[in-house]
Amino acid sequence: MASSGPSHKYTALSGPPDFDLRYWRSSVVEEAFIDGLDEQSTEKVMTIKVAINGYGTIGKRVADAVDAQDDMEIIGVTKTRPSFGCDLAVRKGYPLYCTYNDVDKIAAFEPAGYTCHGGLDDLLAVADVVVDCSPGKVGAANKEAYVNAGVKYIFQGGEKHAMAGMSYTSSANHAENMNAAGTRVVSCNTTGLSRTLVPLYEHCGSLKVECTMIRRAADPGDSKKGPINAIKPVLKVPSHHGPDVMTVKPEIDINSMAVAVPTTLMHCHSIVAFLPEGHGLTTQSVLDMWRANPRIIIMNGGETNITTTAEVMEYARDIGRKWGDLHEIFVWEDGVKLDGNTLYYFQAIHQESDVIPENVDAIRALMGTEANWKVSVAKTDAAISAYNGL
Ligand code: NAD
Repeated sequence: MASSGPSHKYTALSGPPDFDLRYWRSSVVEEAFIDGLDEQSTEKVMTIKVAINGYGTIGKRVADAVDAQDDMEIIGVTKTRPSFGCDLAVRKGYPLYCTYNDVDKIAAFEPAGYTCHGGLDDLLAVADVVVDCSPGKVGAANKEAYVNAGVKYIFQGGEKHAMAGMSYTSSANHAENMNAAGTRVVSCNTTGLSRTLVPLYEHCGSLKVECTMIRRAADPGDSKKGPINAIKPVLKVPSHHGPDVMTVKPEIDINSMAVAVPTTLMHCHSIVAFLPEGHGLTTQSVLDMWRANPRIIIMNGGETNITTTAEVMEYARDIGRKWGDLHEIFVWEDGVKLDGNTLYYFQAIHQESDVIPENVDAIRALMGTEANWKVSVAKTDAAISAYNGL
């Protein structure tokens, strides 16, 4: 077994170790950037105007991740009505808009003490791209407004692939999403599967996977969902998670089952991957491969005492991550075993946050400003770390 230490520095999100902000470039300004490359080259060269429609669990996080970047800005966030979430937007200085165009709904913000700059159409009129963070299955009804306004759109994993037309994870299909009209950042579980399976697939050339998603019942801030005292299997086999991976990497042959358990902290995946003959890997080289890829943390549970999702979340809080988020997928080193051609492993997913940096990379793909996914990931993560003082 390899050393037990974290594969990442405690204070930084992951990225290629030799990444240097000076070498990030927008294709729009590529020539000028290369010509003028010097110590001053990190200044903002193109600002993408980003609207957030739905300022809830995902929306507020995406807003801050976008605000952290020097090539994009938040030009407004929407709330359905005046509520406590508006206070955060005001504190952050994000212009507040109403989710609807209805004049009465817009007018309702002022008596509650909030300045509302208009309805959704007013926000779309000044945006380049909208990140739809409305509740699952609600976003589809917003698509027409986005298309009519001529803005690019990003949906979240609660929407159907067919509706969005494209799906996205940074590691799987950034290139295919370049300059697309819109896409869907897949769910937290699918994002997590993609992080560890795509590098494996790329090494092996083929991959068959069976996995079980042990899902959190609700987010910590959610008082409506459950179960609170039961284990609830998803009575649809396969669950949507495995097939969803194939919307971003169709070459991976994957099936999944899912079960919801009474916890709010994280999801946990139990994964069995069948590698082709001649894969040439060992348990150690699989771990090394994941360590070399961004947004994966590997730790030895036995040696660090981080043996459950509770300790993983405590670790995220200890290292100062905002909201206690963990953008990376957490893999237990001592839970990984390659036995012949069969690879077994567990990974934990912080459901509220692993998709957040992916939304930032997806914006660059749709806007056609960065074709290299690893460059985008490194830029995104370095900027978020700096923004949060880490
Ligand atoms: P949420 O309920 O926390 O936030 C949704 C926000 O959208 C709320 O502020 C709500 O008032 C607002 N809203 C309601 N109707 C709207 C409409 N018609 N148009 C725009 N906004 C509207 O939900 P969430 O957890 O942030 O989930 C958002 C999306 O992200 C869903 O597709 C979900 O499946 C996906 N997602 C959620 C998680 C997670 O763990 N929370 C993880 C990954 C992906």
